[in-house]
Amino acid sequence: MTDQQYDFDLFTIGGGSGGVRASRFAAQYGARVALAEKQYLGGTCVNVGCIPKKLLSYAAHYHDDLKDAAGFGWEIGEAKFDWKKLIANKDEEISRLNGVYSNILSGAGVTTFNGHATIEDAHTVIVNGQHITARYILIATGGRPTWPEIPGKELGMVSDEFFHMQELPEHAIVAGGGYIAVELAAILNGLGTKVTLVNRGSLILRGMDADLGKFLTQEMLKKGIDVRCETKFASIEKGEGETRHVRFNNGDTLDVNAVIFATGRHANTENMGLEAAGVTLTSNGGVEVDENFRTSVPSIYAVGDVINRVALTPVALAEGMVVASTLFDSGACQMSYANIPTAVFSHPNVSTVGLTEDAARKKYGKIKVFKSDFKALKHTISGSKERVFMKLIVDEASDVVVGVHMVGADAGEIIQGFAVALQSGATKAQFDSTIGVHPTIAEEFVTMRTPVKDAE
Ligand code: NDP
Repeated sequence: MTDQQYDFDLFTIGGGSGGVRASRFAAQYGARVALAEKQYLGGTCVNVGCIPKKLLSYAAHYHDDLKDAAGFGWEIGEAKFDWKKLIANKDEEISRLNGVYSNILSGAGVTTFNGHATIEDAHTVIVNGQHITARYILIATGGRPTWPEIPGKELGMVSDEFFHMQELPEHAIVAGGGYIAVELAAILNGLGTKVTLVNRGSLILRGMDADLGKFLTQEMLKKGIDVRCETKFASIEKGEGETRHVRFNNGDTLDVNAVIFATGRHANTENMGLEAAGVTLTSNGGVEVDENFRTSVPSIYAVGDVINRVALTPVALAEGMVVASTLFDSGACQMSYANIPTAVFSHPNVSTVGLTEDAARKKYGKIKVFKSDFKALKHTISGSKERVFMKLIVDEASDVVVGVHMVGADAGEIIQGFAVALQSGATKAQFDSTIGVHPTIAEEFVTMRTPVKDAE
């Protein structure tokens, strides 16, 4: 077939962050593009991820803000919180965003199909019974929560349902110790639910610099979250009324109103005809791709959570840009996974860019580590016991800063600028010669002068 004989130049399966970005840019580069989405435009991030999570996190922060206000002279009467109102307002914003995504696609000239698409062969997709041919196919079907194998697990829920709960539970167990677990625990805690976080490992936020998990655990405990590490579920049964009776492997039991599993996510690769088309998967269940996101079938590409590399929206966007550029522009756009900044919207926030202390030591041998742990100015009179933690990791030989880590208010906002610094190869001497913004929390990153002794 010549290129013009295909119905489209690109057929994208999945209307989330990566799929929409690749489709929009491909269309802007002149390609004839179609996209199929079976559920909702915007994918996980817009509908059951980043956006609703952040809105609910804002809601939960008012709990601390209202308490902190007293120290600043405010007398606030009894505050009441309405979960249904928050969820309705959140849903309204998400519907608006679904519309924005739809407009982005139609504005770029992308043809959208509402329906489940399967791959018939290297150049054919079936959607709503229609066989559609394309020069290239892009798999951008994302991922979904993983349910742990626990007897009675069906009495629990995953993050998708969390965002649509009818009532705020009085007491909830959040299972897991990763991004989603600590974020949902913080939201529920802030909104007034009694929260028990159950983590099977010895430390939360495994994979990040260990000091972050340790520090955040202390902050969560201060806020009244019952953090239980090295604890596994034995079973979940129906208790009295709507309660859940949970047994743990150490013999402990709890009766709660909700059990929320935040025990990881996996790629959406089923029922799409991938095997029949010859698309190879990796050992972790993602679609295998090369540096240009091409799968084992030369005309089929994949980006985002479905490739199971780094499950972050900005990463999916960047990967989508590479595909559009590779297929329909100069191909100059390349993907780098170095120095990806990320934030966990726990309370307080955690943020990080670059290497953990362990990874830096392995890579560079001799490193310098700078740490700071302090009470922010705001809390000198707010009465809050919340503290801030900051950490810099420097390669001793080159003086280049290779890791920046933080737990504290607005850590997610603060880390973005430091990601630019790391991406530009900034040295510790350049950090030191940067003038601080006073009085802020962030200025501490340019005023740390004495390395930690035992890390040298
Ligand atoms: P994570 O991989 O971050 O954490 C999963 C957690 O579940 C770990 O603590 C893991 O324990 C635990 N776990 C896994 N299986 C079981 C099991 N069978 N029983 C008990 N515990 C279990 O996954 P999340 O679901 O939290 O998040 C998925 C990804 O989504 C993140 O990695 C991130 O990329 C992205 N994300 C990003 C956000 C952001 O940018 N703010 C927010 C939310 C998600 P163990 O450590 O022992 O394996």
